[in-house]
Amino acid sequence: MNSQQTKPYRVYSVWLKEHYGEKVYKIPINIPVTCPNRDGTLGHDGCIYCGEKGGGNETLSDMLSITEQMEINAKYIGKRYNVKKFIPYFQSFTNTYCAFPDFKRWIKECIRPDVVEIAISTRPDCVTDEQLFFLQEIKKENNIEITIELGLQSTNSNTLKIINRRHTLEDYLDTMKRIKQAKLMACTHLILDLPWDQEADVVNGAKIISEQGTDFVKCHSLYIEKNTELARWYKEGKVELLTKEAYIHRAILFLENLSPDVVVQRLIGRAPKEDSIVTNWDTSWWKIRDELEAQMTNENYCQGRLFSGKR
Ligand code: SF4
Repeated sequence: MNSQQTKPYRVYSVWLKEHYGEKVYKIPINIPVTCPNRDGTLGHDGCIYCGEKGGGNETLSDMLSITEQMEINAKYIGKRYNVKKFIPYFQSFTNTYCAFPDFKRWIKECIRPDVVEIAISTRPDCVTDEQLFFLQEIKKENNIEITIELGLQSTNSNTLKIINRRHTLEDYLDTMKRIKQAKLMACTHLILDLPWDQEADVVNGAKIISEQGTDFVKCHSLYIEKNTELARWYKEGKVELLTKEAYIHRAILFLENLSPDVVVQRLIGRAPKEDSIVTNWDTSWWKIRDELEAQMTNENYCQGRLFSGKR
């Protein structure tokens, strides 16, 4: 652990400061894309928990140009948090699921002198070699980092089917390999309290993503947004959610089995209350984080303690 690292896991804000030499904030960017799991290419119904905003709860309208979204958000976030460097974050739906000329145009449009990195959220089965080659060039030409964020959610094939992801673990392994070959960074998203996953799946997930060389991880709890298949299952009593204590237990298990090199961007998800039926046991996300950290410190647990794999 370095001098700034006082928590029992690798904290993203510390990594950002070390890597870029100052505070850096993400700026959510909204582009007019959908998802192959919603537009009929793979299916119409989407993942069982996918809400109307496709995972983007803090974005501005996609009617605004990227330049306008950057200007508005950089001004607001810059002033509020006293930051001068930014990471445009293509957040909602599947941001590589579009025509290649559009993809190139959107990526180029968000580059400004105060941009140090671009983060692009997508599905593991939706990243082409053409896109990776283009991003590699963008990285070199502009001296910025590129992170591809992959929604994996579970490494258990059966669970992936139940939650209707319509991609496989093999899709993730293949795309991670190509991202690493292109020398870009990767962030993996996992839901740690899927009721169909066992604790062994959580341990397995930590090991797999570590060994695949993910640079970052975002952990989420399973929340239930209105008008989703999961909301219907919940109302019909077809699904029983895990408790807050079980989430914390799983998150600690996950961190202990995660490589100490992986930087943790998020330990628990958030969803706006007005869009949700159930969110984080009606507890603020930061209270859950504090509880988790206190438990780890008290029990002498830390990220990577049980990791013995290769990176
Ligand atoms: S892959 Fe993402 S955007 Fe597509 S249906 Fe699933 S959660 Fe929604």
